[in-house]
Amino acid sequence: MRSWSAPKLPHLPGAGRRLRLFDTAARETRPVGPGEGEARMYVCGVTPYDATHLGHANTYVTFDLVNRVWRDAGHPVHYVQNATDVDDPLLERAERDGVDWRDLAAGETDKYRADMAALRVIPPREYVAVTEVIDQIAELVVRLREKGAAYDLDGDVYFSVAAAPKFGAVSGYSEAEMLDLFAERGGDPDRPGKRNRLDWLLWRAERPGEPSWPSPLGPGRPGWHIECTAIALNNLGPGFDLMGGGSDLIFPHHEMGASEGHVATGEWPFAKGVAHSGMVALDGEKMSKSRGNLVFVSALRNDLDPMAIRLALLSHHYRADWEWTPALGRAATERLERWRAAVARDRGPDALPSLAQVRDRLADDLDTVAALAAVDAWAAADGDDPDAPALVRDLVDALLGIAL
Ligand code: ZN
Repeated sequence: MRSWSAPKLPHLPGAGRRLRLFDTAARETRPVGPGEGEARMYVCGVTPYDATHLGHANTYVTFDLVNRVWRDAGHPVHYVQNATDVDDPLLERAERDGVDWRDLAAGETDKYRADMAALRVIPPREYVAVTEVIDQIAELVVRLREKGAAYDLDGDVYFSVAAAPKFGAVSGYSEAEMLDLFAERGGDPDRPGKRNRLDWLLWRAERPGEPSWPSPLGPGRPGWHIECTAIALNNLGPGFDLMGGGSDLIFPHHEMGASEGHVATGEWPFAKGVAHSGMVALDGEKMSKSRGNLVFVSALRNDLDPMAIRLALLSHHYRADWEWTPALGRAATERLERWRAAVARDRGPDALPSLAQVRDRLADDLDTVAALAAVDAWAAADGDDPDAPALVRDLVDALLGIAL
């Protein structure tokens, strides 16, 4: 599927740094990405039934920083993202609004692309809609069934958690926590006939009034987790460098996807690194479609420069949970104005130390708070270097994704 337009990245002098990230599965900060050569990343995309909210933007900007730090260190980046363009919430919204689900998905995907381009997020090399690869997903379900890891339940196909020896390795959650989160996030622990309450849906047989596709499993459509596993394996292969998303994807989505990949390929880990961004709240509650407390990027863009939105996101550590307030937008706008005024000067203080600081801080688990402070310090100081303003403009652009 068509992606969105790529921002042009300035080349920076000197060498980038090896990125270290907090790994969810290892529960420690460690190097992520290859020592040399291409870095491979999969980040879960949106279900396009509503506009992009700040929580989404926070996730995609976080992994955009990963992309930028890798590129600065000389790695070509193979980045893949999916769009869940057929799923229960999308079908329910289309039904509620009396629109065709395909039109809803296409329209919302267009808005998402526009938001990502405005925030200067580097697009994935492959942006894959689930409806484009139903055959590939069905093929993977067939493979899991052949390996004895899947079973039929009234025409639907379930993954058997008993067949997954690494289940639990990504999240580290207890069974009680898993059951709670599974019920909360689209799972069906209480469906009668399942062998284990944590078994999950791989293939949903055709239901009246729902879209379906022919497959060796019979007509139907894929479950949620298997789509990302198939798209990641088919585009990146097993053992890719980083699987990313918001922290609400740790369980069940990434846990279950990793087990699917492990059982299908026999290779572990499914992804060498697993990282998650924090949740953005509004009025004391996590921003979520079910609560309806969303701040949409497209609406914010009416009032704020998209670069101020991006700076507001970067003013929090990516793993922190934080709350959006209009004051954050105002503070980010003021910072953007200060930075723009500083790079518009004829000369400034030597920028090479600032470049080194930003590189060092980002490479250390994406410490954007300290990276922004380094640019603030440069902008507040005086100096005689005529090359410095252009270099700061370039470093802020290439590493932070902020166009001044
Ligand atoms: Zn996913």
